[in-house]
Amino acid sequence: MMSRNDEHNEFLIVGGGVAGITAALDLAETGRDVQLVDTAAFLGGQVAKLDKIYPTDHCAFCPLWTDIKKVRDHPRITVHTSSTLQNISEKDGQYTIVINKVHPVIDESLCIYCRRCLQECSAGAVRPLWEHASPPSFFIDTSICTNCGDCVDICPTGAIDLNRTAVEIVLTVSDIIWATGFNEVDLTPLPEFGIGTHPDIMTSLEFEEWTAEAGRNEGSIIRKSNGNKPQNIAFIQCAGARDQRMLPYCSAVCCMHALKQAQWVKRREPNVVCCIFYTDLRTVGRDYYEYAIRQLEGMGVHLIRGRPGLIYALPDGDGIAVTYENTMTQTREIARFDMVVLNGNLRPSQAQTVEGARGPSLDSEGFVDTTRDDLSRFAGGFTLEPADIAESVIQGSSAAIRVATKTAYKR
Ligand SMILES: Cc1cc2nc3c(=O)[nH]c(=O)nc-3n(C[C@H](O)[C@H](O)[C@H](O)COP(=O)(O)OP(=O)(O)OC[C@H]3O[C@@H](n4cnc5c(N)ncnc54)[C@H](O)[C@@H]3O)c2cc1C
Repeated sequence: MMSRNDEHNEFLIVGGGVAGITAALDLAETGRDVQLVDTAAFLGGQVAKLDKIYPTDHCAFCPLWTDIKKVRDHPRITVHTSSTLQNISEKDGQYTIVINKVHPVIDESLCIYCRRCLQECSAGAVRPLWEHASPPSFFIDTSICTNCGDCVDICPTGAIDLNRTAVEIVLTVSDIIWATGFNEVDLTPLPEFGIGTHPDIMTSLEFEEWTAEAGRNEGSIIRKSNGNKPQNIAFIQCAGARDQRMLPYCSAVCCMHALKQAQWVKRREPNVVCCIFYTDLRTVGRDYYEYAIRQLEGMGVHLIRGRPGLIYALPDGDGIAVTYENTMTQTREIARFDMVVLNGNLRPSQAQTVEGARGPSLDSEGFVDTTRDDLSRFAGGFTLEPADIAESVIQGSSAAIRVATKTAYKR
């Protein structure tokens, strides 16, 4: 039974992607107060950068935006974006958290998204946040900003203050949920994938952003190198994943998002040939196999079972060679592609504090180790295990229930 004190317990959620947002809303709905901290300037995590989402093929924006709005409007949730954890200490079952919050140079509550600052900035330092980011504002890249003040003068609402500085905020919470998601790992230590050697060899997140309907190319399928339409695109699965040299696990979401991306290429440009090079096609989840079959039959996406051994830029500087063994025909082959998309290099984000003083325990693969009776007890989403949106949302809810009941149980 919950006591009055328990009702006023406050929880910290680190990471405002779909897992963290879900955990925050679930806790707030049960009457708990929540502090939600994210290093990024916007909520939504990686999903804010996606175009369409499998298995529905709906735009990522609507469901995400709705939940972010609920979070921002909820009286029990306090959001700290552009904030990093500095330190965590524990006393009498309560955690004292120090965060460093950088107030955005552009005040999101005043910005009317008129784009005047964007047009005025000669250094190119003003940039829109991700297309689906909430709030839909701009940010100033301070590493290239010259402090000339032109944007301040042109802003009609006085939203820009180049002198905004960081503030330290101290919070006291009863427990912490880690929902820090994932990042792409740099593939350059595995030179056979050719990353960095040709502009048309890109990672899956880069490709998603490059081809997004709401993105800079408005859904056009074009090459980075010359702006032309590609004739063919290779999607390479397990790049860096299921590989003892880099990530010894399956990243779990890549087969599905390769199928999704290939499908969207075919929908927009039916003549572009799409080949997916796979180890084994993992389409585990409700409606996922159907999703795959529908595309393979209807869209003409080619599936080639084989892990390419070498990908390299051709000497003419134009095409990209993919060499592989086709394990269905047991032949060694080499094919020329205009674009190559690398899938698989997804690693849980580091959830440590900046000073590294205290953070969650991580297992040997970098995921939060919830089996330990320490700070890492509660986690959800990709930081717990490779998980797509549906799974991350379930994980977020599960973490909320666990953290809430654990508190009640302790007292
Ligand atoms: C190319 C691609 C396409 C995809 N397409 C789909 C799809 O169509 N359908 C689908 O179901 N799934 C898809 N996914 C998977 C989907 O992106 C993940 O399931 C989802 O992002 C996981 O959500 P999350 O909240 O766990 O983590 P994330 O989305 O990674 O969010 C984590 C949040 O934590 C913040 N953070 C990180 N470290 C810290 C820290 N130390 N302190 C504070 N905050 C921190 C980050 O800024 C971020 O906001 C795709 C993945 C990729 C790579």
